[in-house]
Amino acid sequence: MTLTAAPQTTTAFDLGPARALSCRECGHEIPLAAEFACPECFGPLEVAYDFDDVTRASIEAGPKSIWRYRRLLPVPSDVQIHPNTEPGLTRLIKADRLAQALGVRKLWVKDDTGNPTHSFKDRVVAVALAAARELGFTVLACPSTGNLANAVAAAASRAGWDSVVLIPSSLEQAKVLTTAVYEGTLLAVDGNYDDVNRLATELAAEHEDWAFVNVNVRPYYAEGSKTLGYEVAEQLGWRLPQQVVVPVASGSQLTKVDKGFTELGKLGLVEATPYRVFGAQATGCSPVSKAFAEGHDVVQPVRPDTIARSLAIGNPADGPYVLDAVRRTGGAVADVSDAEVVEGIRLLARTEGIFAETAGGVTVATARKLIAEGRLDPDARPCC
Ligand SMILES: *Cc1c(COP(=O)(O)O)cnc(C)c1O
Ligand SMILES: [Zn+2]
Repeated sequence: MTLTAAPQTTTAFDLGPARALSCRECGHEIPLAAEFACPECFGPLEVAYDFDDVTRASIEAGPKSIWRYRRLLPVPSDVQIHPNTEPGLTRLIKADRLAQALGVRKLWVKDDTGNPTHSFKDRVVAVALAAARELGFTVLACPSTGNLANAVAAAASRAGWDSVVLIPSSLEQAKVLTTAVYEGTLLAVDGNYDDVNRLATELAAEHEDWAFVNVNVRPYYAEGSKTLGYEVAEQLGWRLPQQVVVPVASGSQLTKVDKGFTELGKLGLVEATPYRVFGAQATGCSPVSKAFAEGHDVVQPVRPDTIARSLAIGNPADGPYVLDAVRRTGGAVADVSDAEVVEGIRLLARTEGIFAETAGGVTVATARKLIAEGRLDPDARPCC
């Protein structure tokens, strides 16, 4: 630390290629910090970058986890890596038997059950923790519909941090158990996820050393989902898929997969070929699908009522950006009933031997519906 005044544009934090936080609504930029709302217009902030030259070879020589993409993520360049317990580089399965059942020529399934706590949430939490450490936090926290709770509690244990996890009291017993085993602080809140989320926002303002991964460090957390897009492209031999079907809860995963594909094209790591992004929801919590069908830009909140608990966010923060991404790429958002979700889980299990949770069932069932309706091209190798 020197006593000379730093120029306005520099930041006190080393978050690798991250340059600033930028407002998704008005474009206003602020220095890197634990902020999530634009001081000018209250719009959501996202990470803006100055990337160095990144080559395929340097990525391929990296760790067999999300950290092979660390020079594309808002984390310190010397990010702490725990060998063998890091998320990412999960299998991309050529799902021939499922393809046949759905009537498509080829189909890819990204199997994120291979992550440390068996969902894609381990990716976003790992990036949030790395950024939170650099930003000076010491406790990892979240409101969760279930999977995030597991990922936060496990990552905190691995890092030697305390964790505070807030869940709706109605959550499935199985998911409560798989969070509790890590022995962080687990609080059941009387209310649904959207109530729990509001409480978390209040607590984040009160406890300066608590990093609520999806609240006060959300801009960094969200970037972790880009790794799904990077991996799919790398695993396809450095090509973008022509169509992807992504489950939508808050909508962050879908928008960041799209951002990841775009970045790879801009960096020259893949040819910037066109791709279409499709969103999948359960009918019992389908505010984004409804807005898409009705041609609206605004997403009306709903009260969730579905077995797909991990997608049950009635007021999705990234809803409007999901609509932007699917409309811009020529995709769609669709939804399926709980009965179809169960059939989707069973279909994936009996054709490919993968027993996914309900979000997997939503994705497979939505892909099936989009194919049946002729909205997803059966010859253009979709990736779920
Ligand atoms: C949270 C979750 C999603 C959706 O994530 P968002 O970024 O909130 O849209 C999808 N699948 C699984 C398994 C999840 O746990
Ligand atoms: Zn703004």
